[in-house]
Amino acid sequence: MVSIAWLRDDLRTADNPALLAAASDGGAVALYVLDGESPGIRPLGAAAKWWLHHALKTLREDLMALGIPLVLLRGPAGDVVPAFAQEAGAERIFWNRRYGGPEREVDTAVKAWAAGADVQAESFQASLLHEPWTVRTGGGGPYRAFTPFWRTVSALDFRAPLPAPDKMSKAHRAASPPDGIPGGEDLADWNLLPRHPDWSAGLAEAWTPGEEAGLAALDDFLAGPVQNYDDGRDRPAKPGTSRLSPYLRWGHVSPFQVWHALCRVRGNGPGPDVFGTEIGWREFCWHQLFHNPDLATRNLRPAFDAFPWDYPEGSGPQTPAVLRGKGAHAPDQLASASRPDDLDALDAWKAGRTGIPLVDAGQRQLWSMGWMHNRVRMVTASFLIKNLGIHWRVGEEWFWETLVDADPASNPANWQWVAGSGADAAPFFRIFNPQTQAKRFDPDGAYIARWVPDALTPAYPEPLVDLKESRRHALEAYESIR
Ligand SMILES: Cc1cc2nc3c(=O)[nH]c(=O)nc-3n(C[C@H](O)[C@H](O)[C@H](O)COP(=O)(O)OP(=O)(O)OC[C@H]3O[C@@H](n4cnc5c(N)ncnc54)[C@H](O)[C@@H]3O)c2cc1C
Repeated sequence: MVSIAWLRDDLRTADNPALLAAASDGGAVALYVLDGESPGIRPLGAAAKWWLHHALKTLREDLMALGIPLVLLRGPAGDVVPAFAQEAGAERIFWNRRYGGPEREVDTAVKAWAAGADVQAESFQASLLHEPWTVRTGGGGPYRAFTPFWRTVSALDFRAPLPAPDKMSKAHRAASPPDGIPGGEDLADWNLLPRHPDWSAGLAEAWTPGEEAGLAALDDFLAGPVQNYDDGRDRPAKPGTSRLSPYLRWGHVSPFQVWHALCRVRGNGPGPDVFGTEIGWREFCWHQLFHNPDLATRNLRPAFDAFPWDYPEGSGPQTPAVLRGKGAHAPDQLASASRPDDLDALDAWKAGRTGIPLVDAGQRQLWSMGWMHNRVRMVTASFLIKNLGIHWRVGEEWFWETLVDADPASNPANWQWVAGSGADAAPFFRIFNPQTQAKRFDPDGAYIARWVPDALTPAYPEPLVDLKESRRHALEAYESIR
């Protein structure tokens, strides 16, 4: 019997209920569909594509070790998956549930097709500790505030992680890929890796995509830094956080694995509990996306629709595609611009040449390794939105393009949080002062020295804006919508 495990944001072998179900009766085939075509599905950013390429390469090896072939296909999944299932003569298809609006529509369509085609289709909970429709406020609606949300969700019973198929039963493993399975496409033909120029050296130095590396990162973090996480999480110069975000984003590691491993190290101080709360923020972001499928494009608080943002010419929410075409992955060129005033404010922010050292350090860390420390994400986002007066959507798009952990829920939810337009958001008038933040969280300047070694040289730009003046402007603009 051929059973398909349709893998999506769950690129792992362990704690993968869909894979386990497909492998339970022999003849399992794993399928990955690169879908940039179904209506509303957000195309991956460039750093995410880099990650996906390596993730699929590693996954193929991990699956082969279990005797499960991985088939790669491209196109609208609502068409591609049924066509493949028919060609392969599949009798069963399994997947782990997704929570974005357009993705759910695709999954519903495939389920409807399966019902008509007499193919057994089953989906599972694997990517979130809670399913967004299962918890409600007293009034019956979705949660808009984190504390009551997490109080409810963290009281639920989270199932234990499942084993990988090989640990379950050798007898149920396919010894070799079943005959007659269509071959699929070559990963190399997908052109996910950057060329001309290849800007990915920093990403490759910083990260090893895949399940094994993700679980090792979890182990390393729980063996030490977690105990001091309550303070260490705010020190960008130190390895005080888990760096699990891309592994969770791509599902190399599941939240159930993280949660249960965390429970084993609890009890020695506040660190593990504070870390557990951050896992809760991930859940909360997905809760928001489920209930607001247009989270990346619409202010959750409509009052912000009237905010007088400045849009850099040719960008802004009306024309986000223009921004992508214009600025995406240009910092190499931006950084080599001869004078800082060759750059407009947005380009200077992207390139880490604003003349504000903590902001520039964060933006350069992002460009170099496809990741930025959370404290600094908040500071650079606040600077873009509040000191430069640029719409949060413009920054959200840049992060989407450049983060290896770019997440359809966490990215827009956090940008809206910083902007003040989101759920349980920081009030707009809370404007991070990058200098004060640097003094507090990078007191010996190690983080800035690491990423902005030119900060004290004459070549370093003058500050793009006066922090006090631009703050005053922002507050005046806010008054206009209150
Ligand atoms: C403007 C902005 C944009 C962001 N965009 C993303 C994004 O695209 N993808 C993403 O995973 N995170 C995003 N975050 C949240 C956070 O910055 C990262 O999750 C965190 O820095 C990842 O590092 P870590 O794995 O070492 O985190 P840790 O501190 O070790 O936290 C553990 C895990 O908890 C989750 N988490 C922690 N903080 C948050 C948070 N505020 N919101 C949601 N989940 C959280 C992540 O999955 C993280 O891996 C964003 C934050 C801001 C301020």
